[in-house]
Amino acid sequence: MPIALESPPVTSPEQSHSAGSGTLPPELKADILLVDDRPEKLLALEAVLAELGQNIVIAHSGKEALRKLLKQDFALILLDVSMPEMDGFETASLIRQRLNSEHTPIIFVTSFGDSDNHITRGYSLGAVDYIVTPIIPEILRAKASVFVELHRKNLLVKMQAAQLQRDLRARQEAERRILHLNQELAERVQALTDVNQELEAFNYSISHDLRAPLRAMSSFASALLNEEADRLSPQGADYSHRIVSAAKYMDALLRDLLDYSRLTREAMPLAAADLDKSVQDLLTVIDPEIRERGATLSVEKPLGLVLAHEPTVQQILGNLVGNGLKFAATDRPAKIRIYTTETAGMRRLWVEDNGIGIRPDYLHKIFGLFERLPDARNVPGTGVGLAIVRKGAERMGGRVGVESQCGQGSRFWVDLPIPASDKSSHAEQDPPR
Ligand code: ADP
Repeated sequence: MPIALESPPVTSPEQSHSAGSGTLPPELKADILLVDDRPEKLLALEAVLAELGQNIVIAHSGKEALRKLLKQDFALILLDVSMPEMDGFETASLIRQRLNSEHTPIIFVTSFGDSDNHITRGYSLGAVDYIVTPIIPEILRAKASVFVELHRKNLLVKMQAAQLQRDLRARQEAERRILHLNQELAERVQALTDVNQELEAFNYSISHDLRAPLRAMSSFASALLNEEADRLSPQGADYSHRIVSAAKYMDALLRDLLDYSRLTREAMPLAAADLDKSVQDLLTVIDPEIRERGATLSVEKPLGLVLAHEPTVQQILGNLVGNGLKFAATDRPAKIRIYTTETAGMRRLWVEDNGIGIRPDYLHKIFGLFERLPDARNVPGTGVGLAIVRKGAERMGGRVGVESQCGQGSRFWVDLPIPASDKSSHAEQDPPR
């Protein structure tokens, strides 16, 4: 290489950066070969070129120049024409025959009297320029610096090309790895989906098949209580009662699990559903319970339309309102408020209560299967209701969430898409409180 690298080659990050950003590090110097048999001329040339700040290498004959060219490349060769043994022309023609120096710029140094003749011959031997003695320092420096600059540019291009190659290889390698990781991920997702489907099928059949023997157990225990009451000891009656209530709880649990399974397995066609109608339908079912508890339920109409699966919306509403009634505070009657707000194409259905509230550290858990808070111990339930709410909302392209203040109440929300036919008011609203 005609440039001496004083720091490690292009692999260092700084150099990579320099090459990439279009500048060469200043420590990269060009090698210039001066060939002349007369030491005083060499000295004079060296003194003139020293100002360029490059590496100057000296050869006292054509042969020595050829030897030096075997060991290194040069950015420029300044070649004296008249030398004993092997003159400048002969040396130039041998330089040109070598592969690594066939394009190295050569400037002939010739005396004034010989110049015409020498110039013609020099050009025919591949010289790129000539300079006539006595040398004018500015001209020599100007000519040499053009070749030094040219050489630096060439080197820069080479370094940039090498950097591009490295970048390309790195990118190809990264793409290959991403492809590989993606394949791995797809395989894992497939495996998990398979396992999930198996589990769901298992869950469904277990829940389904367990209900029949459970019903038998429960009805036999009831039969004992009804038909054999006079022959049962108080302890036998107590045991029978316990069987009936445990069977009742287990039946509720299995029913909830079946509902949850169905939500995962069954097709869920979506259509515009009227929330006002869903709430009205629910009210007819739970009105007796509301009365019995002395609770109030207010609905801020119109609630509007959502793109949803109506029976699943019913199920969600039933669970949220049912919880609002179940988890009422002991010192005040339950008040439940249902209303909607609208944000970015989604309708948010709120179910707010003034009940016992939920501790902040439980808020992120309660939508999981079988998650029940310690203060729900005395309230009947299976811990599946909110998991059904979440699964149902997600299957309809929605989301769920909750805000709560311990001791004051909670408000659950369900986001569901607004059907295209009902996008009349897009104004974003803050939920009222
Ligand atoms: P379940 O009602 O059968 O216990 P859920 O999945 O519906 O199960 O609810 C999980 C838990 O979240 C409940 O056990 C209760 O601790 C808490 N929770 C749910 N809704 C409310 C509510 N409105 N107020 C206070 N706690 C609630």
